[in-house]
Amino acid sequence: GTELGFTEHLFKVLVIGDHKVGKTSFIKRYVKNQFYEELKTTIGVDFSMKVIDWDGHTRVRLQLWDIAGQERARGLNRVYFKGSSGAFVVYDVTNESTLDGALNWKHELDCQEILKNGHPIPVVLLANKCDETKMCRRNVSLLEKLCQEKGFVGWFQTSAKKNINVDNAAKFLVKQILQNT
Ligand code: GDP
Ligand code: MG
Repeated sequence: GTELGFTEHLFKVLVIGDHKVGKTSFIKRYVKNQFYEELKTTIGVDFSMKVIDWDGHTRVRLQLWDIAGQERARGLNRVYFKGSSGAFVVYDVTNESTLDGALNWKHELDCQEILKNGHPIPVVLLANKCDETKMCRRNVSLLEKLCQEKGFVGWFQTSAKKNINVDNAAKFLVKQILQNT
């Protein structure tokens, strides 16, 4: 609500993608600035909260939903997606099939989640584990094109491990979400 010109927002943000692409790692890096080589597969849904003092009169609370082991339980998606303001779709640059997975996730989101203004929610594609391999220019331009075709608002090469572009990607998504409010 607004009080003396100060606004607080609570946004639900989904972090989805195939198993092992680094969803939990991305969230842990972003929220706690921590990274683990070994992570337990999370069971159920995990929530993390990140509070961002966006500017002098805006505070944003991001509630990050980690799909946590529901990768194969697609039937639950409708409930899970409900009320979300934005999403990260993550794939692993070292595992090409996870990009197909990411596109499927995007498609499912588009089918289900629509904002009150009729627009789809903003979705950012994360090409994670970029510390493992350098993306060649050709692949970069292919990805640019893919993003436009599939309606991602943007994409980032990220590394949860080396803390590359994690904050930038989040800032970018929040900016897109705020434009919808
Ligand atoms: P999730 O199943 O999508 O939640 O994936 P996890 O976050 O559990 O990560 C799966 C594995 O990938 C773990 O062993 C992580 O340590 C590793 N991992 C996650 N992000 C990165 C990254 O940016 N770079 C590298 N090299 N490994 C990563
Ligand atoms: Mg996980």
